[in-house]
Amino acid sequence: MKTYDLLGIGVGPFGLGLAALADPLDDVDAVFLDQRDGFSWHAGMLIEGTTLQVPFLADLVTMADPTSRYSFLAWLKATGRLYQFYIRESFYPLRAEYDQYCRWVAEQLPTLRWGRRVTGVVRVPDPAVTSTGGDGGYLFEVTAETSQGVEKYCAKHLVLGTGTQPRLPAALNELGGAGPVVHTSEYLPNRAELAASGSVTVVGSGQSAAEVYRDLLDGCGTGPGEHQLTWVTRSPRFFPMEYTKLTLEMTSPEYTDHYVSLPIEQRDVLGREQRNLYKGISGDLIDDIYDTLYRKSALGAEVPTTLLSDTEVIASRYDAAGAGGAGEYVLTLRHAQLGTTAEHRTRAVVAATGYAGAVPGFLAPGLVNLDGRGRYAVTRDYAVDADRRIHVAGGEEHTHGVTAPDLGFGAWRNSVILAGVTGREPYPVERRIAFQQFGLPGSSRVEPESQIEPESRVEPVATSPQDNKMEAAR
Ligand SMILES: Cc1cc2nc3c(=O)[nH]c(=O)nc-3n(C[C@H](O)[C@H](O)[C@H](O)COP(=O)(O)OP(=O)(O)OC[C@H]3O[C@@H](n4cnc5c(N)ncnc54)[C@H](O)[C@@H]3O)c2cc1C
Repeated sequence: MKTYDLLGIGVGPFGLGLAALADPLDDVDAVFLDQRDGFSWHAGMLIEGTTLQVPFLADLVTMADPTSRYSFLAWLKATGRLYQFYIRESFYPLRAEYDQYCRWVAEQLPTLRWGRRVTGVVRVPDPAVTSTGGDGGYLFEVTAETSQGVEKYCAKHLVLGTGTQPRLPAALNELGGAGPVVHTSEYLPNRAELAASGSVTVVGSGQSAAEVYRDLLDGCGTGPGEHQLTWVTRSPRFFPMEYTKLTLEMTSPEYTDHYVSLPIEQRDVLGREQRNLYKGISGDLIDDIYDTLYRKSALGAEVPTTLLSDTEVIASRYDAAGAGGAGEYVLTLRHAQLGTTAEHRTRAVVAATGYAGAVPGFLAPGLVNLDGRGRYAVTRDYAVDADRRIHVAGGEEHTHGVTAPDLGFGAWRNSVILAGVTGREPYPVERRIAFQQFGLPGSSRVEPESQIEPESRVEPVATSPQDNKMEAAR
C-alpha cells in the first residue's frame, strides 16, 4: 500500500483549503477523503442574495499565499467575472458564489477522493522502519467505505476536518407530525412546503434564523397562499454580531496565543461570553428586517408576525385534531425573565439551532488526546497527539476560541499544519498582526488562580450534556 505524507479526512472549506495549499508542495504527497459525492457548502442555506460574513480575502488560500492559482480572484478571472466584482465594490462574495468558487478549486485538485466515508483509523507499524514506537515507527491506516467496497490508505500525518452536524434541541427532537419540521441546513429544499403551511415558527437566535425569517417575511400575510410567521429566540434580544475593528483583532494569532494560555475552565466561560462576536446577526440584516416590517405595516396591511426574545421552547407535541383537523404543532414557550409559560400553535417549524462537532467515532481509542469532557485536547499548533502527527482543522473552538470556525483564519491554521507536516514553513506564518496587546506587557507569569481577586475569580460553570459538544457558529 502506498504511504502518503498527509491524509485529510473531510473536504469542507478547511480541508479543501489545505488541499489547495498542499497542491504545489513537492514534499507533500497528500490525499483527501470525503463521504460526499462532490463539494457542497451549506446547500440548504444558499438563499438568494446572502453573502459571506468575511471579505473575499478569506478564501481558501489568499491569506497564506496571495499568488495562489486557487484564489477567489483567480476564479473570478477564469470565469470572466472579475470586472463585475470590481464594479460591484463589495468585499463580500455571495454565498452561492463562494460555493461555486470552492467547486471550481475542487475540480482542479487531483488529490481529492469523493464518496469515501472514513470508518476507522488505527496505528500500524511502519514497514520502512525496523524499530517501533516514537515518531516514524508507525503509520496511520485509514479505512474508508465506498459504493464499490472498502478501501485502505496509509499515511504519516492525518488532518481531521470533519466539521459539524446540525443540532436539534431536545424540545424539538423527534417531533413527528404532518407539517414540516426542518433544521436550517435543510431549509431551501423545504421552503415551498414551509411557505404553504399557513404558519411557520422559526426557533433560534443567530444569523441563520434571521436569514430564514427574512426570507419567509416576503410571503407573510393574511391573503391566500400567505402565512403567519413567528420567530422565537432564547437570547435576551435580537443581538448583532460585532464587527468593530479592534474586536476583529481577536481573530489573530496573538489573541489565539493568549486564549490558549488560559486555564480550560476560564476558556469555557469566555467561549460562552464571546458568542455575540460571531453567533449574532449581521447588523444590516437586523435593519433590513425592521425596514421590511415598517414598509409592510406602512402600506396598511396586517403583518401577522410575532417576534419573541428571551423565550425558549421547552417542550413540543403534535395535535392531530388542531387547526380544524389539519393538525398542528404545540410548542410550550417559557419566558426566562418572567418565568411564565404559554402554548404556541404552528403548522411548521424551522430549527435554526446551530451545529455541533464531536470527536469522530472512527478514531481508535487512545489515538488522540481528549480533555476531561471528551473534547479534543489541542496544542497551540493544532496537534491532538503526542507525536504531533494528527492535526485538527476546525473543532478547536473550546481550546483556541473564535478563530476556529472563522473562514478567514483557515489559511493561517493550514499554514501552521503544513509547517508541522513538512518541518519547514512553506507559507510564512505571521506571529503578530494586532495593534493591541493581549495580556499585560512586561508581566511575569503567575498562577492564574492566585492572580485573580476572590470576587472576580472564574468559577467552573455547571454544564449540560449539550455543552459537552463543540458548538459551532450559526
Ligand atoms: C450557513 C452557514 C454560513 C456560514 N457562513 C460563514 C461565513 O460567512 N464566514 C465564516 O467565517 N464562517 C461561516 N460559517 C461557519 C464555517 O466557516 C462553516 O461552517 C464551514 O463550512 C466550516 O468548514 P469545515 O471544513 O470545518 O466543515 P464542513 O463544511 O462541515 O465540512 C466537513 C466535511 O467533512 C466530511 N466528513 C465528515 N465526516 C466524515 C467521514 N467520516 N468520512 C469522510 N468525510 C467526512 C463531510 O462530508 C463534510 O464535507 C457558516 C456556517 C453556516 C452553517
